[in-house]
Amino acid sequence: MTIQTPVIAGNWKLNHGPEETRAFFRALLPEVPADHVGTIAIFPPSLSLAAAVEVIATRTDILAGVQDVYWESRGAFTGEISAPLAHEAGAQLALVGHSERRHVFGESIEETVKKVRAVLDAELSAILCVGETIEERESGAAQGVVTGQLEPVAGTLSQMELSRVLIAYEPVWAIGTGRTASPADAAEMHLHVREVLAKHFGSAASAIPILYGGSVKQENAPDLLAAPEVDGLLIGGASLEPSTFARICAIPS
Ligand code: PEP
Repeated sequence: MTIQTPVIAGNWKLNHGPEETRAFFRALLPEVPADHVGTIAIFPPSLSLAAAVEVIATRTDILAGVQDVYWESRGAFTGEISAPLAHEAGAQLALVGHSERRHVFGESIEETVKKVRAVLDAELSAILCVGETIEERESGAAQGVVTGQLEPVAGTLSQMELSRVLIAYEPVWAIGTGRTASPADAAEMHLHVREVLAKHFGSAASAIPILYGGSVKQENAPDLLAAPEVDGLLIGGASLEPSTFARICAIPS
């Protein structure tokens, strides 16, 4: 599997069961030519992963992933899913450290490190989500917070693994709120993320896709995608409706 930029990713959160998932792809596929530029990734609820994998089987340009994994592979962990089982079920990527995992479910930085390791060890690609709260931004701590979320993960990565690592900058104050970072704000933080990665990986850092997420809509997507250092988008609400999502996928890069 090769991931090409721009990456347009849809995080469905707790929306779309298996039937709705099939209906979504039946509507989306004719609207997205298979030779479009870039990679599309959809993160359905894990109960709908099999339906997604089945419907996109003939489309190598569209990948399915899971929204979270537990760091253990198997065992007495009721309710959890693991990276090896997600891989077996057809997932090619996993989100790690989404702000709802961090802020609604109290996931710690140490846990995101273990999860990224589990994802990469299972041969999946990881999208590590990072981002600051509004209080952190207003107090001038945004870059430090993002560095603190990135560094512990970066410290565990080998150069060989970099082709399976993506970062999503998602300011918490912009997720599901209708408030979007300006293209300039996004570019500034993406540049910072790139610099942190470059400290660890040198010139190889330039190939790590950095996506922006937070109230992306059809209207603001072109300017965000055109911002420097923005290699794609991670989209929640606006990824749920096939024609809206298809129009975002069709934005020229
Ligand atoms: C998300 O869930 O990652 C997200 C960015 O959501 P929304 O686009 O709805 O803000």
